[in-house]
Amino acid sequence: LLPIGAFMAAFIIGIVVWLSRKRLSPLGELAIAVRNREFIVHYQPIVELASGACVGAEALVRWRRPDGSLVRPDLFIPLAEESGLIMPITDQVIEAIIADLAALLRMDRNLHIAINLCAGDVTSGRILDVLQDRLSGARIEAAQIWLEATERGFIDIDAARATLIQARERGHMVVIDDFGTGYSSLQYLEGLPMDALKIDKSFIDTIGRDSATSSVTPHIIEMAKTLDLRIVAEGVETEEQAEYLRERDVHFGQGWLFSKPLPAGEFIRYYQNAKTR
Ligand code: C2E
Ligand code: CA
Ligand code: CA
Ligand code: CA
Repeated sequence: LLPIGAFMAAFIIGIVVWLSRKRLSPLGELAIAVRNREFIVHYQPIVELASGACVGAEALVRWRRPDGSLVRPDLFIPLAEESGLIMPITDQVIEAIIADLAALLRMDRNLHIAINLCAGDVTSGRILDVLQDRLSGARIEAAQIWLEATERGFIDIDAARATLIQARERGHMVVIDDFGTGYSSLQYLEGLPMDALKIDKSFIDTIGRDSATSSVTPHIIEMAKTLDLRIVAEGVETEEQAEYLRERDVHFGQGWLFSKPLPAGEFIRYYQNAKTR
């Protein structure tokens, strides 16, 4: 499976570069960026709310242009998903994680890194073989890699279920990302193999505010608990929000209150300091 995936990626890149040789379209630029390996990863700490300990980080991709500027993922991920370039980008993200953190991950088996999967990864399951290959090569355990999948990945629900089942069998923790922003109910997700829900920032934003959605947040938390799922709260910015989540026994938090996404070296320092605090 691996060589075919690599071949496919090279083929897509080749076609796109060739098509855009004359006038560089955004897609052509992106394809060249993939070929030149211009993608790096920043790491945003994930904190256990009860203890304040850092348990890991979410890997967030950035496109570093030759002039050194960083492009935010929402500016190129949609185009990458449409064109299929997301697959080689995901592979570069995995390779970056290993280059940046393999030593730390081997030293500390309690450290976890969460990876964002695109719809194509969830549907095809291709990513699981890439991960298995890279992780075993670097002697990192599958349990140290959390996989974040959004509802957009569940268009083909049977294929998604098969991938998520296999992911858990291999030891990954499966996290449903951006929870609450899609159309489906928790009931729809109930049959899916998953370990945790990541509550979207838009719900965390409403904590302490008097709005229609602020009444939804506690229900999401309660339902997740009923289903015996762990909860990660995304976009925690204030102490008031953290306190609210702690009171409701939400396990993990992530957001500017704890740290912004950090370049690898800074994350390693953050993690080591957080442990001795
Ligand atoms: P996401 O998965 O919902 O990631 C969380 C986003 O919220 C990140 O934006 C993060 O920087 C931001 N964030 C976290 N805490 C706070 C906070 O307290 N306040 C505010 N205002 N923002 C906060 P980022 O890094 O720009 O990523 C945007 C989206 O791009 C991600 O949303 C994810 O859907 C996608 N993405 C990022 N990296 C990857 C990747 O490697 N692969 C794929 N397929 N998608 C990725
Ligand atoms: Ca995510
Ligand atoms: Ca998210
Ligand atoms: Ca989000």
